[in-house]
Formats: sequence, structure tokens, C-alpha cells
Amino acid sequence: MARLSGRCMCGAVTWTYAGDTTRNLVCYCTDCQRATSSPVTAFLGMIAKQLSWNGKIKHYESSAGTFRGFCPACGTRLYFRSDKWPEETHVHAATLTNPGEYRPDAQVLTRSRPGWLDLLKSIPSHDGFQRPPADPTERAD
Ligand SMILES: [Zn+2]
Ligand SMILES: [Zn+2]
Repeated sequence: MARLSGRCMCGAVTWTYAGDTTRNLVCYCTDCQRATSSPVTAFLGMIAKQLSWNGKIKHYESSAGTFRGFCPACGTRLYFRSDKWPEETHVHAATLTNPGEYRPDAQVLTRSRPGWLDLLKSIPSHDGFQRPPADPTERAD
């Protein structure tokens, strides 16, 4: 049994979980892409009644019976839950306290995977920014 915890970007919403994860999957569906403004998102499936939330959460019903929760203060996406899997909440893995520990074991809706993800290995990569950020102390105005 795992003990997991997480939070949104601003910290107004936190969660804790005690139990086995039901899924550790990466989703490429077009709804997740649109909802997260991202080509891919990673989820941890959790037994809903063993998952505790603290803080104010809003949700958007992205299709009938499917709800996507987010922090109204900072906008961080928190979970996906659907009447199709009523006992589970799929929590966004990026909200984990230690997101680097996440290990997916499946990919779903790969038919919607953006082809440009394959380009990433062959285009320039930078350990930091591509261009240094502006230094506000050097602005002429
Ligand atoms: Zn927040
Ligand atoms: Zn999805």
C-alpha cells in the first residue's frame, strides 16, 4: 500500500492517498490535450474513497458524466473522474509531492498521440532556456 501526497501550483489544494494505485498511465486523448494545454498527461488512478482533498476545487464537465477538477486560484489541473469508472479518481501525476518518482506502466489513446513528439529526439535541446531571459535592470525605458 502506498502513501502518496500532492498539491497544486499555489498550494491552496492538497491531497493525500493511502492505498494501491489502480492505474499509472499516460493519456494522449484529445480531451486531455485540450484540458491540460499539453500533448500528453500522466495519471495515477486512485480509489476515490481513500483519497482526501483539502482546499477549494472547481470542476469542468468536459463530457457528460466526466469531470475535470482544478484549483480556482492557480488553475492547476488536479483530476479526471468519470461515471464510467465511478470508484476511481485519476489524479494528475504532475501534482505529486515528488513528481519525479512517477513511473507510468501504460499509454492509452495512442491513436491521438501528436506525431511531433517523435521530433523531440532530433531537434536542439537546451539544459536551460533557449535564449536568456531579459534582465529587467538593463531595460532602457
Ligand atoms: Zn492552486
Ligand atoms: Zn485523456
